[in-house]
Amino acid sequence: MALDARAKALKAAGQPIVSFGVGEPDFPTPEPIKQAAGRAMAHDQTHYTTVSGDPVLRELIAERTAEETGLPFKVPQVIATTGAKEALFIALQVLCNEGDEVLLPAPYWVTYAEQARLAGATVVPIETECPSWKVSPDDIRRLRTPRTRALVLCTPSNPTGCVYSDGELAALGEVLLESDMAAVVDEIYARISYVPVGRWLRACPALADRSLIVDGVSKAYAMTGWRLGWLVGPPALMQAASAVQSHLTSHPSSITQQAAIYALQNDPQVEATIDDMVRTFRQRRDAIVAGLSAIDGVTCPQPDGAFYVFPDVRGLFGRPLGPQGRVTQSAEELSAYLLDEALVVTVPGEAFGTPGFLRLSYALAMDQLQEGVERLQQALRS
Ligand code: PMP
Repeated sequence: MALDARAKALKAAGQPIVSFGVGEPDFPTPEPIKQAAGRAMAHDQTHYTTVSGDPVLRELIAERTAEETGLPFKVPQVIATTGAKEALFIALQVLCNEGDEVLLPAPYWVTYAEQARLAGATVVPIETECPSWKVSPDDIRRLRTPRTRALVLCTPSNPTGCVYSDGELAALGEVLLESDMAAVVDEIYARISYVPVGRWLRACPALADRSLIVDGVSKAYAMTGWRLGWLVGPPALMQAASAVQSHLTSHPSSITQQAAIYALQNDPQVEATIDDMVRTFRQRRDAIVAGLSAIDGVTCPQPDGAFYVFPDVRGLFGRPLGPQGRVTQSAEELSAYLLDEALVVTVPGEAFGTPGFLRLSYALAMDQLQEGVERLQQALRS
């Protein structure tokens, strides 16, 4: 956070910062979705909705989940939330009690760990290895205890971009069936994948009565600021989830819900815009992987999804770098050096429980990306 504040201050002072820190698509929300929000305001859809969200929206989410998984879903199995983040918060609140353990593959998006703690649980990280960054069934067998309440999985992953296939998910599901462990699966980046994306409930239908799926429009439709996500799960858990939401946010914004209804209606114009966005992300991914791989001391595996690369930078530690010959010993120090020397923002792996790596988002225009990579190449020359 200190780094983030410094980067913002430098930018505000007019410095030509290139930021690989961004966690959201740099594309505008598609025009027809914005127009739907305008119509919602014009038609006075500006009051409270039902706590779990507009039934039309919930129906669309149920239909979409059914298409993705091949399982039937009904409206009572869905609540619309204020972003995927609230869906995750609620999922952990309804599942966890004081003293429960939550298995969390590392590197992880830090919100999972904080939300599990807010629910009274203890986080048990599962260390995974570069370049696959995937959890194996044996990892879960080794770390589970009678107190393990849930596995939290993110696919495609922030920060590694790894994408589990249906087969890999099914193998993990088999282990969960050996005990009464639940699953919270965050599929918020599923639309931004360059390989066929596995779906937890398609792979593990036998776990439908103890799986909570999190998704939303933020990343897929470039709608991060609108704050609309959802939680899908078995009716009993969803009743509890709705009760939590009623005392937390009441429901997501009524205007946003109307915009999301439009987004989920498969308008060909919107879908084509999103396909273009994913194609552009893929070109940028290829460019950033090539640019970082050309740096001696950096290993940058090619991620299969989301819009992040997570290179191994341990080869740079202890070496004099750049014109000043600065020596760094950790990703945090390296990230601070890159901000000072190159005016480039990166996120150190420490923020994801995995030191020795940096996360770079490629949600920025290609010319900025190229400029940033060139500056990194200069600054990391030994
Ligand atoms: N899950 C992951 C893995 C994320 O990276 C993010 C956004 N950074 C979210 C959930 C939150 O999504 P939303 O903006 O819809 O709350």
